[in-house]
Amino acid sequence: MTVLSNSLAAADIATTLHPNTNLRQHERTGPLVIDRGEGIRVYDERGKEYIEGLAGLWSVAVGFSEPRLAEAAYKQMLKLPYYHTFSSKSHEPSIRLAEKLVEMTPPNINRVFCTSSGSEANDTIVKMVWYMNNALGRPNKKKFLSRIKGYHGITIASGSLTGLPVNHRDFDLPAIPVHHLTCPHFYRFGAEGEDEAAFTARLLAELETVISTEGADTIAAFIGEPLMAAGGVLPPPAGYWEGVERICRANDILIVSDEVICGFGRLGKSFGCQKYGFTPDIMTLSKQITSSYMPFAAVMFSDAIYQAIADNSEKIGVFGHGFTASGHPVASAVALENLAIIEERDLIGSAARLEAQFQAGLQAFAHHPLVGEARGAGLIGAVELVSNKATRKPFEKIGRAGAIASAIGHEEGLIFRAIGDQLALCPPLIVTSDDITEIMARMGRTLDRLPAAVAAEGLA
Ligand code: PMP
Repeated sequence: MTVLSNSLAAADIATTLHPNTNLRQHERTGPLVIDRGEGIRVYDERGKEYIEGLAGLWSVAVGFSEPRLAEAAYKQMLKLPYYHTFSSKSHEPSIRLAEKLVEMTPPNINRVFCTSSGSEANDTIVKMVWYMNNALGRPNKKKFLSRIKGYHGITIASGSLTGLPVNHRDFDLPAIPVHHLTCPHFYRFGAEGEDEAAFTARLLAELETVISTEGADTIAAFIGEPLMAAGGVLPPPAGYWEGVERICRANDILIVSDEVICGFGRLGKSFGCQKYGFTPDIMTLSKQITSSYMPFAAVMFSDAIYQAIADNSEKIGVFGHGFTASGHPVASAVALENLAIIEERDLIGSAARLEAQFQAGLQAFAHHPLVGEARGAGLIGAVELVSNKATRKPFEKIGRAGAIASAIGHEEGLIFRAIGDQLALCPPLIVTSDDITEIMARMGRTLDRLPAAVAAEGLA
């Protein structure tokens, strides 16, 4: 636990409203102050070592000490630290990065719009799609379809697309027309006696019913993460994406693949849509695009969408959307260097090669008395804690067992993310086979200590 007399911790408590944090709890325990990084590890202010089992926020592909990214940023800062992309201005890093992203993404995706965060990117997608449908003379085609437990950001529109109660409750969200479909997680949402194929068929029937009830002429797009990450690491059931794609195509509904976590190799392919075999019209990219060394995100989309938007901008005189930092030169230079490293070191191939070991390591925890399900794909996974394995009953105070596990994990030198009582792992893509063995050993020791700690708190 953090030493509260520490002056940094005290200053933090006195000044900072932390994102995604129980603030009163934070005042009592204080922050874990991370001081420096090295490879897959970070060190706190007292010098204690941790394996960063979540790659920061699912994002630091190349690890925490890559000098080439620091050098790329420094060089670009000396040459042109800032310029914008409004009013036909441009600069080389942004142009080169756009070319690179078009080359990497599927063939039908050939246009780029840059932002600084995944939330801004998804807000941009909502606005672009609305703008396009106004331009095409179909002003009623504005609704979005999303999923319960989906995560697409926290701004007004992207937060509305997100399907997690904690991001809606008391924020007056959703604030845009969005319908949240059943979460494609068989373990929690499968009905009694239903097998996985029947579950998938039920979800696809629900999608068709919603489209016919609401009217396809009112629904603009379906947005989804190929594998739902921040909602608890939930891989889709077999045949799900194939069915979603078929139904959306038949109803002229755009498909948005939110690749903010799945993109750039997390699932052992360049993009999550390739892992699950569907072709989106729009993609959201962020996080591993710069290994989060700089804030950056990109909306990628098809030429058909671009043409409708461009025609309308000529009518109106301008495409009236953009950010001061759209295509920021330093962030773009860092992204280019980061993507070069991912390619040179074949980190996507490495994720594919290590998938079996990583997933087997997680599956070994499925036998633990407090683990209801172990799941994942590529180099992302989770174990879900339950109070009763046979009935899948969650703990009464959701999130408490997860918080206890997280604290024990810190003592064992492993940082993972407790999403309620789901413990998520998503290590940097530079992990080796030996690193995975060590991560699983630390996770194992954490889980072994958990039953006594949970019992000591009287959790049921
Ligand atoms: N989409 C997905 C799939 C995400 O996981 C996230 C962030 N975890 C976002 C969008 C939002 O990105 P940001 O936090 O950069 O706004």
